[in-house]
Amino acid sequence: MTQEVTGTFAELGLHPSILAALVAVGYEEPSPIQSQAIPVILAGHDMIGQAQTGTGKTAAFALPILSKIDPAKRELQALILAPTRELALQVATAFETYSKQMPGLNVVAVYGGAPMGPQLKAIRQGAQVIVATPGRLVDHLSRNDQLLSTISHLVLDEADEMLKLGFMDDLEVIFQAMPASRQSVLFSATLPASIRTIAEKHLREPKHIKIAAKTQTVSLIEQAHLMVHADQKVQAVARLLEVEEFDALIAFVRTKQATLDLASALEAKGYKVAALNGDIAQNQRERVIESLKDGRLDIVVATDVAARGIDVPRITHVLNVDMPYDPESYVHRIGRTGRAGRVGRALLLVTPRERRMLQVIERVTGQKVAEVRLPNGQQVLDARIKKLTNSLSPLVADAEASHGELLDRLVADIGCSPRALAAALLRKATNGQSLSLADVEREQPLVPSVSAPRERRERDGERSGEFTPRERRAPVPLAEGRARCRTALGTRDGIAAKNLLGAILNEGGLAREAIGRIQIRETFSLIELPEEGLDRLLGKLKDTRVAGKALKLRRYRED
Ligand code: AMP
Repeated sequence: MTQEVTGTFAELGLHPSILAALVAVGYEEPSPIQSQAIPVILAGHDMIGQAQTGTGKTAAFALPILSKIDPAKRELQALILAPTRELALQVATAFETYSKQMPGLNVVAVYGGAPMGPQLKAIRQGAQVIVATPGRLVDHLSRNDQLLSTISHLVLDEADEMLKLGFMDDLEVIFQAMPASRQSVLFSATLPASIRTIAEKHLREPKHIKIAAKTQTVSLIEQAHLMVHADQKVQAVARLLEVEEFDALIAFVRTKQATLDLASALEAKGYKVAALNGDIAQNQRERVIESLKDGRLDIVVATDVAARGIDVPRITHVLNVDMPYDPESYVHRIGRTGRAGRVGRALLLVTPRERRMLQVIERVTGQKVAEVRLPNGQQVLDARIKKLTNSLSPLVADAEASHGELLDRLVADIGCSPRALAAALLRKATNGQSLSLADVEREQPLVPSVSAPRERRERDGERSGEFTPRERRAPVPLAEGRARCRTALGTRDGIAAKNLLGAILNEGGLAREAIGRIQIRETFSLIELPEEGLDRLLGKLKDTRVAGKALKLRRYRED
């Protein structure tokens, strides 16, 4: 089956069992970070990769490391460190997926907030890959300092996030517990001085890998993005298609399976749609493109590979259902519209974890990709009625002359009013389509928009509310020259003082002495900062995340 993997994955030198797993997940070709990182890691070099979520970075380290692991040896061989429990679980799942064809390969995830017993048991039973958050791993090390003595591959994933969370000391303990001969790979979206220091100290002549970001121009294309949760993309697409006035549209997804799934979901809704992916024979692909050109099809759901070179002037819309791997492929994708000097429209679905990739795209293209909301039920209904109006209005002019008499006769025969008859004809003509608000909302359950301000506040744990009685304490007097700031993160978000301190020191560039008292409560925390330059500091910390959540530090007024 491996010959089905596009040349490039096979050419990278991955183990045949990994190639077989890639066929099963339906990846068609390596993403740019994968093409660059995989050979370097396979060759045994230490590496620093600058890449954010959405670039395919997990597979960029998981695939070569799995290729080098010996599943017959029942001992820990690879350690992946991740800043949060969610990321650790996600990485562990990715390792499991890519090692499906490697019998005997076991992965264990080790993170806080879960009992240690089962984690220890999985390690003892011979797992070869351990994916861990630093804090919990240090707890394990304090019970067994030999735990990591057989590790030959280390990955620090989202290293900048780890430092923001205050894991610097834990990392040092972990480094000391591993053999110096190991291979070390570090991935980070940014490379602040603190990361460079770690790399200098603990990596050996690392190769640097970064996706070149050339400025690109996309002037004739109107761009917008929508925030959605990953599991709501199909509903979101369905709603969008109702209100967007498109002629032909190309929707981009990442895998072959996704092309098939989305195309069949849209076909069930009555669209003229086809899937286009690398498994489809060349002559069939050409037929699909011809059909899109001449209007037998209106929508094509494609992977990047399969859509290469499509030039169909009818395409008014590009819908990025899955995030592209890098700004260049975004620019390629949206270049499928706006052909021949026409204005095109490009929409991008963004999941909460992908916000950063959106920022990178904006930076590289030099354009803001404005946020729009998912259409609500009323907008869908209005769009349906508008289509109906447009299809009926040209018929009204001469219909009375041709069908007026018939109408009179039917009204008389049935014994109903002309209005009742017109309503019956409409029902027939619209073929059961929902044309009332209640029906539309029943048919398309409302997709909660990720960025609805209220929801976002709740999700990020920010409460505008007051102190709960348990939290109410007499305010502590402030020292001169200090201001008190508040964040909605507290112990229930897994925050400790060292996390806040780590984040503010790293991102804010303050000296330790500049930070005063820190009070951590269940649902919020207070921190004393220098009054001088406070606004600038809060600006710097605007996008800072702690424990995977937005810090959103604000000036706190006691009154
Ligand atoms: P990551 O940047 O590691 O968070 O990956 C983002 C998403 O891209 C994940 O859902 C992966 O399953 C998917 N992905 C990674 N590499 C590929 C590839 N070569 N082809 C298609 N999808 C991929």
